[in-house]
Amino acid sequence: MPLDANPAPLVDAFGRTVTYLRLSITDRCDLRCTYCMAEKMTFLPRKDVLDFEELARLSALFIRHGVRKLRLTGGEPLVRRDVMDLFRDLSRHVQSGDLDELTLTTNGTLLARHAETLAACGVRRVNVSLDTLDPERYRAVTRMGDIRMVLAGIEAAQAAGLHVKLNAVASRGAFEAEVDDLIDFAHTRGMDLTLIEEMPLGDTGTDRAETALSLRDLTGDLSRRWTLIPDRHRSGGPARYMRVAETGGRIGLISPMSCNFCALCNRVRVSCTGRLYTCMGAEGSVDLRAAFRQSDHAALSCIRAALAAKPESHRFDADRIGTPALRRHMSALGG
Ligand code: SAM
Ligand code: SF4
Repeated sequence: MPLDANPAPLVDAFGRTVTYLRLSITDRCDLRCTYCMAEKMTFLPRKDVLDFEELARLSALFIRHGVRKLRLTGGEPLVRRDVMDLFRDLSRHVQSGDLDELTLTTNGTLLARHAETLAACGVRRVNVSLDTLDPERYRAVTRMGDIRMVLAGIEAAQAAGLHVKLNAVASRGAFEAEVDDLIDFAHTRGMDLTLIEEMPLGDTGTDRAETALSLRDLTGDLSRRWTLIPDRHRSGGPARYMRVAETGGRIGLISPMSCNFCALCNRVRVSCTGRLYTCMGAEGSVDLRAAFRQSDHAALSCIRAALAAKPESHRFDADRIGTPALRRHMSALGG
């Protein structure tokens, strides 16, 4: 029996309708990016992580109430064992037309293995995180990664017909010297490149005041070498886009620190333990899993109550980038 005959959309106190769910399916990862995790991490016991049945049921509940876009994230979603079973299950919402988009954000290391299955499950686009093309710097930034695996993943994804967008966290120094190569690499392969400002989430053992780079400064610098034309493209997220006249490709800019984008926020996040976060930049979360284990009705009431309290905007402060604004790491919730 359906939960209710006319499921009302999920709307917050500021009139913003939630149509986008980012669902973290694991806090684990095969990399330890310096801006995301500490070198030594303690991951959650497996018993605390939602199983596939719970993840699928939760997704279905959100989809029934207006979510049109579902992104799986982590940690690294592709390290979860048998993760393609979950994609196969979720693909029915794409086939039924209830979901416009099923997608994921991945570091790409295991993408080559899964690209064809993802495409068969109705995934059309993937975001791959890649901050550098230099194998040694890649290893340094990720503390352990082999860039060849990511490059093979990107190639396999494109060969399987997936649209790939690259995500890169901007940082001072080597990144600034290399960003032109990243633009070239992305655009000659038909990929957008989204640049992300580092956010002060969790203690990673690094000094963010040393590394964080404002995208305002970076784009100022880029515009001395490239012709950047504001582009009206929207991807349903917080990125603003620029077209690069010389390449014809697009650069996305996600600037939570230097340019607050919260007025258009259409999303909520659920952690792999089933905690619902209505704002990535706020500590508050509610235990959706407990409600969900009672009934879908209880879960829905819990979601609506949390949305009524969704903050109007995050409170990151660019002048305090060196101090974690939140204890939780980015990997606990997904980007
Ligand atoms: N493991 C996957 C990946 O790396 O794409 C998905 C999870 S990761 C947490 C999602 C995105 O968050 C990645 O693009 C990553 O670069 C970004 N990210 C991680 N820590 C960040 C931070 N402190 N500030 C800004 N972006 C961050
Ligand atoms: Fe892992 Fe992604 Fe975090 Fe890097 S950014 S440590 S790949 S979760």
